[in-house]
Amino acid sequence: MSFRATILTLYPEMFPGHLGSSLAGKAMERGQWSLDTVQIRDFTTDKHRTVDDTPAGGGAGMVLKPDVLARAIDHASENDHRPRLLMSPRGKPLTQKRVRELADGDGVIIVCGRFEGVDQRVIDGRDLEEVSIGDYILSGGEPAALILLDAIVRILPGVMGNDLSGLHESFESGLLEHPHYTRPQIWEGREIPAILTSGNHAAIAKWQREQAEQLTRERRPDLLDEPPTKQLR
Ligand code: SAH
Repeated sequence: MSFRATILTLYPEMFPGHLGSSLAGKAMERGQWSLDTVQIRDFTTDKHRTVDDTPAGGGAGMVLKPDVLARAIDHASENDHRPRLLMSPRGKPLTQKRVRELADGDGVIIVCGRFEGVDQRVIDGRDLEEVSIGDYILSGGEPAALILLDAIVRILPGVMGNDLSGLHESFESGLLEHPHYTRPQIWEGREIPAILTSGNHAAIAKWQREQAEQLTRERRPDLLDEPPTKQLR
C-alpha cells in the first residue's frame, strides 16, 4: 500500500506545491505516494461559512472553531488509523527519527493551523499530535506540512534513485555530514583534500567519519548525547 497524506487546510491550492516537482513529483506520478486536501471551510454550517472566532479571554487575532475543525477531521479520519498531526510551534520539534517512523506507516492526516491557532478542545478531543518544524512562527501550517511531507516522501522506498544515500545524511548517523567536493580539482586556488582522490577507500571513510565527528562537536554537541536513528554501515 502506498503512503497517503490528507491535508486539512483553508488553502488547498498551496498543495502539492513543490512536492509536485522533482523526485517527489515523479514518485507521486508513479503512485508511490498520494496527497489529497480537505477544505476546512466546507464543514461550516452558517451562511457566512465562518471558520474562526475571537479568542475567549480577549487578545489579538482569531481562533479556528473547534466544531468546524472537528467535523473536517472526522470526515478525513473515518475508518482510518493514520496518525493525526497538527502543525504547531508549540509541538514537539520534528526529528529525522519521527520522520522515519511516519514514513514507515500508511500515511498521515495533517491539520494546518491559521490565525492564532486552533481551539485547545479539538486538540484534546481528537488526540492531535502537535509537531513543530522549529522555533519561529509561520503565518500558517501549510508550509510546515509541506516540509514535513518533503522529509517523509524522500525516504519512501524507491523515491530516491540511490536508496543507500539516505543512510549517510546528516542526523541519520547521529552526526552532521562530512563536507562534499566535486570537480574541478582546483577551484579559485582551493584544492579538494588529497585523501579524497587517493583511491584508498578505508582511509577516505575514516577521514569522512572524523570530519563528521569534528563538525558535530563544533556545531551541534547536543546531537552527541542522542542515540543514532540508524547506524552507519
Ligand atoms: N499564536 C501561535 C502561532 C500561530 S501561527 C503561537 O504563538 O504559538 C499560525 C499557524 O501556523 C499555527 O497554528 C501552525 O499551524 C502554523 N505554524 C506556525 N509556526 C509553526 C512552526 N514553527 N511549526 C509548525 N507549524 C507552525
